[in-house]
Amino acid sequence: MSHVMNTYARLPAAFVRGEGCWLWDTEGRRYLDAMAGIAVCGLGHGHPRYVAALREQAGKLVHTSNLYEVTLQEKLADRLAGISGMDNVFFCNSGCEANEAAIKLARLYGHKKNIEAPAIVVMEKAFHGRTIATLSATGSRKVQAGFEPLVAGFVRVPFDDLAAVKRVAESNRSVVAVLVELLQGEGGVIVCHDDYLHGLREICNANEWLLMLDEVQSGMGRTGAWFAYQHSGVTPDVVLLAKGLGNGVPIGACLAAGPTADLFKPGSHGSTFGGSPLACAAALATLAVIEDERLMENAVAIGDFIRSSFAERLAGARGLKEIRGKGLMIGIELEHPCGEIVQQALDKGLLVNVIADNVVRLLPPLVMKREEAELLVATLAPLITDFLAKSSAPQAAAQTA
Ligand SMILES: *Cc1c(COP(=O)(O)O)cnc(C)c1O
Repeated sequence: MSHVMNTYARLPAAFVRGEGCWLWDTEGRRYLDAMAGIAVCGLGHGHPRYVAALREQAGKLVHTSNLYEVTLQEKLADRLAGISGMDNVFFCNSGCEANEAAIKLARLYGHKKNIEAPAIVVMEKAFHGRTIATLSATGSRKVQAGFEPLVAGFVRVPFDDLAAVKRVAESNRSVVAVLVELLQGEGGVIVCHDDYLHGLREICNANEWLLMLDEVQSGMGRTGAWFAYQHSGVTPDVVLLAKGLGNGVPIGACLAAGPTADLFKPGSHGSTFGGSPLACAAALATLAVIEDERLMENAVAIGDFIRSSFAERLAGARGLKEIRGKGLMIGIELEHPCGEIVQQALDKGLLVNVIADNVVRLLPPLVMKREEAELLVATLAPLITDFLAKSSAPQAAAQTA
C-alpha cells in the first residue's frame, strides 16, 4: 500500500528518463510530451546546456539561505528586471508563494493608504494556488470546498468584463489591487479580449490600484513573448512567475515596479529556500536557452501550426466548441466532458490533459519541432473525432440531456 497521501488522481505511467519532447517509462515505452510537466519544462527534458549548468552549480554550492548575500539572485533579478520592465524581485519556490507575496504587497500598499481592510479584485475561474490565501483568491468552488473559512479581502468579478471591475471601483472604497491571469490556465485556457488589459490599466490608474498579473503559467515565453502582457504593451505593477522559470527546479518570483518594488522591508517577508544558488542557476540557464535558441519564435510558429491543424482536421465536427490559446498554451473545448481522452492518448504514447471537464489542454515544451507537432496532431485529432462522433450522436445527446 502506498504511503503517499492520496491527493492526485494519477495516470498509470511512471517516467524514468527524458530527452527533448520525449519521455520513457519504466517499461521502456516512449511518450510524446505535450504537457511539459504543466508548463514547466519549456526546454524539454535533458537539455544539454541546462543539465551542464545544473551539474556545475550542484558541484559548487546548492544552498546557503538568505541570511547571506546570494550573488546569483542578484544576477537573476537583474535579468528578470531587464526582460519584464519591473524593478525588483522577491524569490520564492512556487506559484502559490509568488501569489502570496503579491497579496502581502497589496495589503501593505493598502495599509500605507490608511485602508483598514484592503481588498483585491479577483476573477471567476481564476487559479492562483492551493495555500489558504491563494485558494481563497482562486475562482473555483472545487478548490475551496472543505477548507473554509476562506481568507477575507477578495472581491470576485467575471473574467474579461471591464464593466464589472468599474462597478467595483464605484462601490468599494477598500479595493487596492486587481489580481488576474491574462490567459486563464486551469480555468480552461480562456483568452481575454485585446482591450481588456488596457482597460484594467486605466481603471487601476484612475483608482490608484495595483495591477498584478499572475503569469505563473503564461510567462517565460509560453505565449510567444516573455510574458503575456507584452503582447499588449501595457506595463503592470506586479508580475508573478514560477512554473517555467526554472525548467523543473522549483523557483518562483514576485516582480514589482515603481514604489511597490520597495514596499517590503527586512522582516516583512522571507523564505528559507527562496532563490537558492541552484534554483537561480537553473533559471539563468533557462532564460539563456530560451533567448539563444529563439524558443519564443518557435512557440508562435508551432502553436499556430497546432491550432490551424486541429481547426482543419476538426472542421465542422459536431460537439466542437472552440480551438483557442496563444503560442504553446492551447485549449480545445468540446461540448461534453471528455476526461477519457487523456487515458486514450496515454495508451497511444501521448501526454495531454483535460481541464474544466471539457477542455483538452496542450502545453508542449517550447522546443517542440514541426515533426513532433505533426505527430501530436495525427495522434490526438482522431481521438477527438471519435469522441465527438460518440458523444454528439443524437442518441448520446438524448441520454446526457
Ligand atoms: C500553477 C499555477 C499556480 C500555482 O502554482 P504552484 O507552483 O502549484 O503553487 C498559480 N497561478 C497560476 C496561474 C498557475 O497556473
